[in-house]
Amino acid sequence: MPFRIPGTQINWTNSSFLIGTGLATITAVPYYLWKVGIDWFQVALFLAFFIATGLSITLGYHRLFAHKAFKAAWPVRFLTLVFGAAAFENCALAWVSDHRRHHKHTDHDDDPYDISKGFWHAHIGWILFKINPEPPWDNVNDLRKDRLVMWQDKYYVTIAVTAGFLLPAALGWLYNGPVGALGAFLLAGVARVTAVQHMTFFINSLCHSVGNRPYSSRTSARDSWIMALFTFGEGYHNYHHEFQHDYRNGVKWWQFDPTKWTIWVLHKLGMASELRRVDDSKIISAQLSEAQRRVQEHLQTSADRINERTRELLHASAERLAEINARWNELKVHYREQVDALKKDYAHKTDEKWQEACHALEEMRREVRQAVALLDRLPAVA
Ligand SMILES: [Zn+2]
Ligand SMILES: [Zn+2]
Repeated sequence: MPFRIPGTQINWTNSSFLIGTGLATITAVPYYLWKVGIDWFQVALFLAFFIATGLSITLGYHRLFAHKAFKAAWPVRFLTLVFGAAAFENCALAWVSDHRRHHKHTDHDDDPYDISKGFWHAHIGWILFKINPEPPWDNVNDLRKDRLVMWQDKYYVTIAVTAGFLLPAALGWLYNGPVGALGAFLLAGVARVTAVQHMTFFINSLCHSVGNRPYSSRTSARDSWIMALFTFGEGYHNYHHEFQHDYRNGVKWWQFDPTKWTIWVLHKLGMASELRRVDDSKIISAQLSEAQRRVQEHLQTSADRINERTRELLHASAERLAEINARWNELKVHYREQVDALKKDYAHKTDEKWQEACHALEEMRREVRQAVALLDRLPAVA
């Protein structure tokens, strides 16, 4: 069936750019590699531009500008705006406006990359076609106060072309004259733009269709460690949709989230501050209630279709979850008391009390970790 959404028309600027760079990536790039070959400089330049522009989207456009998950010094804002433009995903204002609508109306008509309109629409269709009339940018007024954001908005095309194509070509020229410039333009420019764009598009398509939903099944957003590998950590999309202001998407320390690690390093260097983290107790509560909801739903909807053994396992899971939940409700109160005590004592900072509160809080965390470990060992039911 041909793709068609009522009230849409082709967006020629976006379509010709996307199709042009895509076609060049699968024709001109392999032809160059066949004729000239590859060397370490071109590989390094490709990777450097892939990381600079990819991270500028995830760390800058997404977590900093769209979600205000932390505050950043001007050099961080400036660099992510310059290399974010070089990803050719629109200026920050437009990107953030779309993204905030995506979170507000996830899976519904006003979601620009609504997955319920199909995988193709969520991935790239929404960019190739215009929605009439185009929604107003009335949800980014906070960003209009940032002079760097407004500067990028004004000179977006110039910045994008300079940083995305001319800069790699110039570096290639310095390395190996016209042949080096052409190679850098094709690899670190064109092929890299295609790679970064599809990385972002996959968050809107695959991360809303492949993976699991440990924190909430209210939306189609899913967690997938495989996707995280290709998206600088943005693959933990179920967590992100549930707790969008957290500077981490992979919330566990071992989850692959280079964006989170970069923000943390910037914080240590004094370039980022006020990193927002969702309280452990809220995360645990979300996981527990989602697991309970899943078990109950499974018992109710598929009770007549499952065998005796599975039914027993599900009942056992439900009981175990109820136990954990009861224990957790006790712990939660105590946990909050400890956090409050810690905050108050910090002002007085008497060493003994401080140590005591720290110790109690660590005990709490251990209990919480055990509860979650138990949850992870329960049989998968959905
Ligand atoms: Zn999403
Ligand atoms: Zn988001």
